[in-house]
Amino acid sequence: MIDTALKARLKARIKASGPLSVADYMSACLTDPQHGYYTTRTVFGTKGDFITAPEVSQMFGELIGAFCLSAFEQMGSPKTFNLVELGPGRGVLMSDLLRTAKLRPAFLKATQLTLVEVSSKLKEVQRKTLASSGLEPTFVDSFDKVQDGPLIVVANEFFDALPIHQFMKTPSGWMERCIGLDDNEELVFGIGANKLPTSEIPQDISNAPDGTILETQPIANAVAQQIASRIKNQGGAAIFIDYGYLKSAAGETLQALYKHKYDDVLAHPGEADITAHVNFDALSNACKQAGVLPMPPLEQGEFLLRMGLLERAGALGAGKTHEEQEAIRDSVERLAAPEQMGKLFKVLGITATKDPLPPFDLSSRS
Ligand code: SAH
Repeated sequence: MIDTALKARLKARIKASGPLSVADYMSACLTDPQHGYYTTRTVFGTKGDFITAPEVSQMFGELIGAFCLSAFEQMGSPKTFNLVELGPGRGVLMSDLLRTAKLRPAFLKATQLTLVEVSSKLKEVQRKTLASSGLEPTFVDSFDKVQDGPLIVVANEFFDALPIHQFMKTPSGWMERCIGLDDNEELVFGIGANKLPTSEIPQDISNAPDGTILETQPIANAVAQQIASRIKNQGGAAIFIDYGYLKSAAGETLQALYKHKYDDVLAHPGEADITAHVNFDALSNACKQAGVLPMPPLEQGEFLLRMGLLERAGALGAGKTHEEQEAIRDSVERLAAPEQMGKLFKVLGITATKDPLPPFDLSSRS
């Protein structure tokens, strides 16, 4: 097998300066300026390695748009606010969201659109997709560069692309998992010298058997905390949608997708999409540390149904051909059915006030 360009460079880097943490590896694979997966690719959707919810159907972005309109109202319809999307991909979600926002001209008039994106190629695609929206996006490469003021933040499948760390239970504690070279100079997982501080080990896994893997996501948590802190101080709301789990647990979720198939994580660095499931418990705690109480997360299926997915599908299908109606029904299934995206994907909503925003409720807010 011929090494990918990035693999050859990573091998040289490991030879020169030692093993990489899983986070450093993931970061190189996804966003290396020269050979990263997102930096070099513009193809998502049916031709890409994975299909995201906005690419499945316009209804997804429209319903997120409806959520943003109620957030805007809850904020007291400010004269200006930042509408921020993290990792907009091809810009499809934002385009569908803004079409829905046309229902409320005051929203569009107040919108300063900011897109947080690292890939120059994707920025170009986003600019093109949004050309007809009438809004000129400002691009920044990290959330902390978003200008001051009230804000509504949207992120779909963004947090799963942020680098995670892995720790493995060993007789000497939870040690950081690293990537080094074996005798044949191939990439291989190993154990590094970094130890997870006892305070960061979830209590119910302290007795896990040796070999158990624990993942941590300090970067995702830090971004969520920054956003929550801005919302607390300057007003607004946020909605994060991603695949992940609600309660902290041990286990490996790091995965690679290459040409629509699961792949060895070490096989095609820079050419496979590498992601990890998002720990929503940890994201919620990060928001709480910023002084904001997030609304209890919903599964994507529940969220979309409560937002009116079926009604929207009915309206969209009215007067269409049988085939078109079948296609709409099919996308409803893909987005909301439990065995498809409905259960695995979770939705976390944050607001500056104590009042919940529909479709979230406070029944289990702790
Ligand atoms: N939200 C889109 C695309 C998801 S893919 C959709 O649902 O279709 C992840 C997106 O996040 C891509 O646009 C990628 O370039 C961007 N991204 C990945 N890591 C990033 C980082 N560290 N900072 C900013 N954007 C990043």
